[in-house]
Amino acid sequence: MGIRHDWTVVEADALIGRAFHDLLAEAHEVHRQTFDPQVVEAAILLSIKTGACPEDCAYCPQSSKYDTGLEPERLMATADIVDAARNALASGATRFCMGAAWRSPTDRQVALVADAVRAVGGLGMETCATLGMLTSDQAQRLAEAGLDFYNHNLDTSPEFYGEVITTRTYEDRLDTLANVRESGVKLCCGGIVGMGESRLDRAGLLVQLARLDPHPESVPINLLVQVPGTPLYGTDKLDPLELVRTIAAARLMMPASVVRLSAGRSQMTDELQALCLHAGANSVFLGDRLLTTPNPGNDHDRDLLDRLDTTLAVVDLPTSTATSTCTNATDSAVSHVPVTVTRDTVSTMAAQIRSTSSSVEM
Ligand code: SF4
Repeated sequence: MGIRHDWTVVEADALIGRAFHDLLAEAHEVHRQTFDPQVVEAAILLSIKTGACPEDCAYCPQSSKYDTGLEPERLMATADIVDAARNALASGATRFCMGAAWRSPTDRQVALVADAVRAVGGLGMETCATLGMLTSDQAQRLAEAGLDFYNHNLDTSPEFYGEVITTRTYEDRLDTLANVRESGVKLCCGGIVGMGESRLDRAGLLVQLARLDPHPESVPINLLVQVPGTPLYGTDKLDPLELVRTIAAARLMMPASVVRLSAGRSQMTDELQALCLHAGANSVFLGDRLLTTPNPGNDHDRDLLDRLDTTLAVVDLPTSTATSTCTNATDSAVSHVPVTVTRDTVSTMAAQIRSTSSSVEM
């Protein structure tokens, strides 16, 4: 299946609704044409600024509109972010994602995150940030800092969107995506299923993603994590096979994109996750937290990936050592510590993670 940007909702709906085994067989075949099905990309997502967000996303415990008992936290110091990135690298993650609960950051906040991006990139990791809406100029600042990916999800179809968020429009989101694209930073953009939307809405989301030209390099598909206190708590649970169908359709509609099985893995069986990986997902978040919600944890993931004969992707460092000095003026503890990472170091880490030895905590 070639790269297309002219998908219609009718086509996508028919794709998701195909005979299950036919859908999975084709999705897996397309997956194999571009990717090694035994390799999974691993990322770590860290909440660098938590809660007190003025937006009203009905699924989100970080919204200030809902009482979920979450304690807001200010923007982390760059030194602490870099420490967390080092731990992520040691756990086998190749990408470090920094999430901040902002509607739209100020220029000063972008400058602080840009410092963290430079420092984390210097470790030899891919960097990703999700900070809310960005202006064209802010996207450019992050690009100059070396940001690899920017995450900004469309969440759902344009038709269902108003049921979930009222404080910013679908167009606002598309504008940020365009600003990021223009800056040269790669796009991480996906959505959430299980919010009470219909299959037609899931098709509508995939069509919006597939109409982006080029397709987002990374497409996270999240299963709603129902948090008490949020409006979507108590929503009827989605049939898990609909998640598999959605991932298979995403693989077919965006054959060259990395599809990430994101939030909600803690409530999935291993068998369901295996089906999702078979259907075309090839990326997960490691760690026991995803921003503020639970994630399976590294011991569990190591065991599951071993049972699936799957290995983690290894970061592609330059053959020479990668050396970086963080230049964050606000944190001298980091600013004078050069960080040296070699390809061998990373390969060794990945090998340790693949083994069942307990010497490395994933
Ligand atoms: S999803 Fe993001 S923008 Fe929406 S309330 Fe949560 S932190 Fe704010």
